[in-house]
Amino acid sequence: MKLMEDARSNAAWLTCLATAFACLAAAAQMESFNTDYPGANGKLQSIDRASRTVRYESDWRGGSHYWFNFEARGFTGRWRFIGSRITKVGPAVSEDGGKSWYFLYPSADAQREIFDFDFGDVARPVRFALSIPYQLADWNRLADRIRGKEGVKLGVLCKDRLGTPAPVLEICRSERPEWTFLFTARHHACECSASWVMEGLIDEVLSDTPEARWVRERARIVCVPFIDLDGVEQGEQGKSRKPHDHNRDYAQELYPTIKALKAYVKAHCMDGSLVFIDMHSPGVRGIEHDHYYGLGPAGEGPNRLWLAYSRELEKATRRARLRYDPQWDIPFGRPWNTEALFYSSNDLVKSDRYFASLPNCKLAFCMEYGYGLCGGIFCPEGANEVGRCTIKAVVRSLTGQSNAR
Ligand SMILES: [Zn+2]
Repeated sequence: MKLMEDARSNAAWLTCLATAFACLAAAAQMESFNTDYPGANGKLQSIDRASRTVRYESDWRGGSHYWFNFEARGFTGRWRFIGSRITKVGPAVSEDGGKSWYFLYPSADAQREIFDFDFGDVARPVRFALSIPYQLADWNRLADRIRGKEGVKLGVLCKDRLGTPAPVLEICRSERPEWTFLFTARHHACECSASWVMEGLIDEVLSDTPEARWVRERARIVCVPFIDLDGVEQGEQGKSRKPHDHNRDYAQELYPTIKALKAYVKAHCMDGSLVFIDMHSPGVRGIEHDHYYGLGPAGEGPNRLWLAYSRELEKATRRARLRYDPQWDIPFGRPWNTEALFYSSNDLVKSDRYFASLPNCKLAFCMEYGYGLCGGIFCPEGANEVGRCTIKAVVRSLTGQSNAR
């Protein structure tokens, strides 16, 4: 009898244990969001298992815009996601923890705020983002690749707000450079497409094309890849940050990187002529936002040079996978690229306005690179090619030589 009671009791324990393990296994498979990695952003609002619908929203930390970058965990089968605005080619998707990405709707028929994804039979983490993220780790991979090459100086501009060292790259192989080409990205933290283009122009400068040789003999290249580095790593929006964003800070110098960049240029870049290009991402979708385009500078001389650059960029990208079409450019004075809108306050000075005011500046302007559609479907390789063409276009517009291929 005693033995039977023991056996029954043991069986009950085993059943209990099995149930507990089953519960744990189910809990491990519960659908959830992970935002615990650099650049992540997203707030889960609800999961409706009956309709297999997830509702989420961008976390508007550090300003307003549309950045999201979250990892969906524990999902199986087909689900509908409703949340932030997405590009016409949908969200960028990574099934390998952020190493490689693709856009979900290559036929460019994605709805504005809805996408569907089939996770398959086995739950696995899948990341979804507005565009293909570019973080400090990506820059560090580039830095490792170019470290030690002739003329390459990898330095620290300053510590950002949270103490993170903000990188600056200088490439100069000339004793007395006649030109400085200054490039900045991520004045607005979320604008990641511009960063992939910056990689391309660095690759071009370190190549052996005629334009790279011209740069080698006559110019200094300065790149500041993350003006709002802490915002980038924290997954913040950055656009319209309060009380003003980084690109309106060139008078007040509220942010350490702005103060340090102004000092850097004063100390290192006043011995020749200056060309400044500030690299951004535009709106999420529609009209010019599905392309890449320039915002024309004020003033007759700069405008003439900018038009020459624009013509050269068109020729240089004629066979590129991301095509530049100057019809999407916004010349100075129309429709919102105006003195009145952007420079209405002496306290809020934009980067291009500030650098244009330096006595050695010949040209200062902004470029905007689409998040999803960008004259073609955005991809790092295509953006790299645009960066390479950008250096060619700058050099050819300065030298008046066109080598259109
Ligand atoms: Zn911007």
